[in-house]
Amino acid sequence: MAKPQSMIEQVRSKVTVEFERHRPPSLQADRKAAKEAKHKAKHHKYTKAAFFRYCYYDPAFKFFCEQVLDVDYLPLPEATRVSSEVGAQNSSDYVCTPFKHILGDFAEALDLGADILIQFGGPCRLGYYGELQESILRDMGYDFIMLNFAHGIEKGYIGWAKEVLQTVNPNIDVPHGVVKLKAVAKMIEHLDSLRDFYLANGGFEVEPGSFDRAWSRAMDAMRTCLDERDINQVYREAMEDMRSIPLNKPADPIRIGVVGEMFTAIDERSNLELDHKLMAMGVEVHRMLNFTNRYLRYNEPNLRIGAKDYLTYDMGPTSTLTVAAARKYAAEGFDGVIHAKSAGCTPEIDCIPVLQKVSEDFHMPILYLTYDSQTSDTGLDTRLEAFYDMLAMKKEKAK
Ligand code: SF4
Repeated sequence: MAKPQSMIEQVRSKVTVEFERHRPPSLQADRKAAKEAKHKAKHHKYTKAAFFRYCYYDPAFKFFCEQVLDVDYLPLPEATRVSSEVGAQNSSDYVCTPFKHILGDFAEALDLGADILIQFGGPCRLGYYGELQESILRDMGYDFIMLNFAHGIEKGYIGWAKEVLQTVNPNIDVPHGVVKLKAVAKMIEHLDSLRDFYLANGGFEVEPGSFDRAWSRAMDAMRTCLDERDINQVYREAMEDMRSIPLNKPADPIRIGVVGEMFTAIDERSNLELDHKLMAMGVEVHRMLNFTNRYLRYNEPNLRIGAKDYLTYDMGPTSTLTVAAARKYAAEGFDGVIHAKSAGCTPEIDCIPVLQKVSEDFHMPILYLTYDSQTSDTGLDTRLEAFYDMLAMKKEKAK
């Protein structure tokens, strides 16, 4: 039997009223946000965070500060000679170059208004750098807090998250922070995957600058992501964008693998734009060393098994990856390998005799580059050009 119209109207209005009741009135939401902001202002003395300049991971650093720590992120402008000089002047001569770069970046960030510095530590001396840099910067008169990832790692991931994240934000919702940390890891994986494609193909673009423009678009889009869904979507679109770039790639191009130290082999400021210099010569560049392979998916014993003819023990922070990658490139018939390290990097100095053996066994040339704060662009260009010519002649002869 059909219901009278008045009854239908009654049911409709009840549903509407109940539905509206589930949504908090906007006035209350505003009050809550204002209360939170007041609480934050009172309890968070420190609210602006900065990382040091490192490779192409800036969007992930931004995401971490804003989405995990719930603080503002201070992006650093392009590095200048002054940033490096401040770092070098306030460091011991004997410390490795990344220490000087990081110290200079931190001083610059503090001058620009940061009050939280983030040091992610590392598996070598880098693990002690945070404390040392903190005390140097305090002696220089700065007031700030240092979020040092090297602290609390012995407490497991959750213990670490509590200790480290609560240093900055005492009210942090740890489970929520952990979910967002997972998204940071996803962003890093995607950035590395985009970079791999860029390195392998950027040297063969038909229209100069196409890959750099696509790369900038991808980085800008990554900087706007708010969650893992955004990150995955930006990655898919960025990959499509790069894949659509017209290429003029020979069937058998010169292929070079870059191995070495965590900063110098990846970070373009530390290695004086090695990636760009190689791509400008028309080289297909590969680099197994990145954050994903060194931290997120790192399995040192497995890697060592792959290079068991050359390695018995774990020799240091990036040593196993350096040797395993060089061996892999040699076995896959790469034309050459470049080993890039900072001056004073003991673990990578130890790798050199092993790399010489790989080079001898596979008849694959290896160029050894050592960088310090005085390394010049011109000297590097000359060495790279000579290396390229030698590889090209060798390839020609082998035909
Ligand atoms: S890997 Fe070498 S250069 Fe890099 S921070 Fe460690 S010791 Fe220094």
